[in-house]
Amino acid sequence: MKIDVATLFPEAFDGLKVGIIAKALQKELFSLSLHNIRDYSADKHRRCDDYPFGGGAGMLMTPQPLRDCIRAVDPDRKSLRIYMSPKGAPLTQSKVERLARCESLLIVCGAYEGIDQRIIDSEIDEELSIGDYVLTGGELAAMVVINAVARYIPGVLGSEQSTEEESFSDGLLEYPQYTRPAIFEGAAVPEVLLSGNHAEIAKWRREKQLEITRRLRPDLLDNEGEDGKR
Ligand code: SAM
Repeated sequence: MKIDVATLFPEAFDGLKVGIIAKALQKELFSLSLHNIRDYSADKHRRCDDYPFGGGAGMLMTPQPLRDCIRAVDPDRKSLRIYMSPKGAPLTQSKVERLARCESLLIVCGAYEGIDQRIIDSEIDEELSIGDYVLTGGELAAMVVINAVARYIPGVLGSEQSTEEESFSDGLLEYPQYTRPAIFEGAAVPEVLLSGNHAEIAKWRREKQLEITRRLRPDLLDNEGEDGKR
């Protein structure tokens, strides 16, 4: 998979390149190219923002540098073009899985009060939000998308790790997990996990998943079928 990012702050993505993601990039399991929108500004001072028509607080990103950056990076419109935005559709695990099946993504990060609507209308395929709160820029949001998507790229997770038995993978939260020692500060691991009886362990885990989801995220049970899962 190829991921391009259009941003005013490419240096922010240093924070993404750690651990599993750093290894995956080194092994070239996917590519990540950062494009500085400012490099495409035709303004002699390389400005990329201006006042909003109609007044209002703050500045907006101007259309010209964004258009030129997006079209230079994706001239044949082959990438799925995503604009990170609090107004976007919420990012869910099923969306992550869908994005991971794309050959190439172009993620556009906004700044200031956002970007000119005409760029969204003419250049963007999807607006995506990482939650109902407002960040100062799209970089953290883009990193969340890239990190979540990368976990589905073959070879990124080691064989001992899996996306299959995790929270949201079947529309439920994950069951509780324990490791050694079997007793820690007087608290014992549930007997069934030491039994070696895989059918009983699977049954216990399923029950726990339902119990935890009911307690912590009842909305997931209400939304049954939203992701076509469970
Ligand atoms: N004025 C915009 C609004 O009220 O919807 C908020 C702009 S925000 C200060 C600047 C940029 O941060 C946005 O253009 C977007 O790229 C990014 N951003 C902020 N919150 C986000 C969120 N929850 N999800 C995705 N991107 C977000």
